Amino acid sequence: MDGALHVDESVLLRLAGAGPRYTSYPTAPEWTDDFGPDDATDAAVRASATPDQPLSLYVHLPFCSRLCLYCGCTVEISGKPSRADAYLDAVEREIELVSATLGERRDLVQMHWGGGTPTFLSVEQLQRMHGLVAERFRFLPGAEISLEVDPHVTTHAQIDALMDLGFNRVSMGVQDLDPHVQHVVRREQTAEETDALVARCRERSVEGLNMDLMYGLPDQTEEGFGRTLDEIVRLAPDRLAVFGYAHVPWMKPAQKALEARGTMPGPTERARLFGLAIEKLGAAGYEVIGLDHFAKADDPMAKALHEGTLHRNFMGYALAPSEDMVAFGMSAIGELAGTYVQNARTTAEYEAALSDGRLATIRGLRRSPEDELRRAVILSLMCRMRIDLDELEAQTGREGLAEHFAAEWTRLRPFADEGFCRMGERRLEVTPTGRLFLRHMAMVFDEHLHRRRAEAAAREAAGEDGPRFSQTI
Ligand code: SF4
Repeated sequence: MDGALHVDESVLLRLAGAGPRYTSYPTAPEWTDDFGPDDATDAAVRASATPDQPLSLYVHLPFCSRLCLYCGCTVEISGKPSRADAYLDAVEREIELVSATLGERRDLVQMHWGGGTPTFLSVEQLQRMHGLVAERFRFLPGAEISLEVDPHVTTHAQIDALMDLGFNRVSMGVQDLDPHVQHVVRREQTAEETDALVARCRERSVEGLNMDLMYGLPDQTEEGFGRTLDEIVRLAPDRLAVFGYAHVPWMKPAQKALEARGTMPGPTERARLFGLAIEKLGAAGYEVIGLDHFAKADDPMAKALHEGTLHRNFMGYALAPSEDMVAFGMSAIGELAGTYVQNARTTAEYEAALSDGRLATIRGLRRSPEDELRRAVILSLMCRMRIDLDELEAQTGREGLAEHFAAEWTRLRPFADEGFCRMGERRLEVTPTGRLFLRHMAMVFDEHLHRRRAEAAAREAAGEDGPRFSQTI
């Protein structure tokens, strides 16, 4: 995709609406509570049968010293760095239990630490955490080793220690540099702090720098967000994610305060803010990878997109050629041998389970054969920007996919009419503009979503309350 990309506001607006991001299929709302530590162990046993297959690994480090009001993560607010010691004890036990079950399967192609704020941990705690993984897993050459950093709290000493440990990619939360918006959402972070941390990472020859921005926050304006985008372009991260703020106060009560602290942009304003990001980043040489992810044209992620080797897991888009991901920590989600597993969502429950010598699994799902098929279609769409029924029949061993997906194929026609894809009898190719609307096309294949939407409509008709979705734009 060359140069500036313009997408009509009316198109962005028309496609605004609730929907999942497909970091898994079936998506998290489908997983059941009727799934516990024994099921997670069973998945790890099955995963141990392929010791040569590399793994991805995720660690959730949930602590933050302050709560940003827009936060959608699972966090524990704490002013005491020593608080993380007991948590790391629990993570250590979990790593011991899972790695013992995985046996010889221990090669890693990707590791990511998310949060929370991983750099809430002191240098010593960061070193300890890395050691816990390195003792039981083996980083393959070229493994992508990354973590999230908050420029407001991350010190140069921490960056130095992380680079010494072998971290090669840093993901910086920025969201918006406008001081007023930062005040409204209670995340003050000066441009100087961001600048200084970027400079330090570069001095230490970090291989990749990601930044996260957010649109749809209260009091955001095109003018202010435009300045943020210009500043970010100047800082030149290799990859960018431009997320739409998901206002879900029924799930995240702290978000409710935002309604009184500023004016929430409506759908048209959200569409304009996202359109502005698409335009400015395109003009600066960033390519749309998919949904809301952008990368410099010479970044390995853009190359993977063109070579058809891109992957998608709970960390979002990934280069790692691994189907399975082990995940440690409170609320962490793993994927092993066709099974999704999720840990307890509070540190208290998580630590209690591990101190009893049990895994802290609270929910999950083992995919059915139909789930596997639909997941393969959605992954092909999201990562290879195509659906090729011949290819999928060969890959999955299923025949008659044209008949099986006849209704879906018909429902995709309007996307072709919009110019988001080109369709033949057995093949669909996503156009560059269509990359922004992948989740809308993926939703066509999500049979669980269709069922839940029908149920939600019935509930609404009956005046009952029930689950809702966040916005896609
Ligand atoms: S730093 Fe991130 S995880 Fe922590 S409260 Fe803010 S948004 Fe949430």
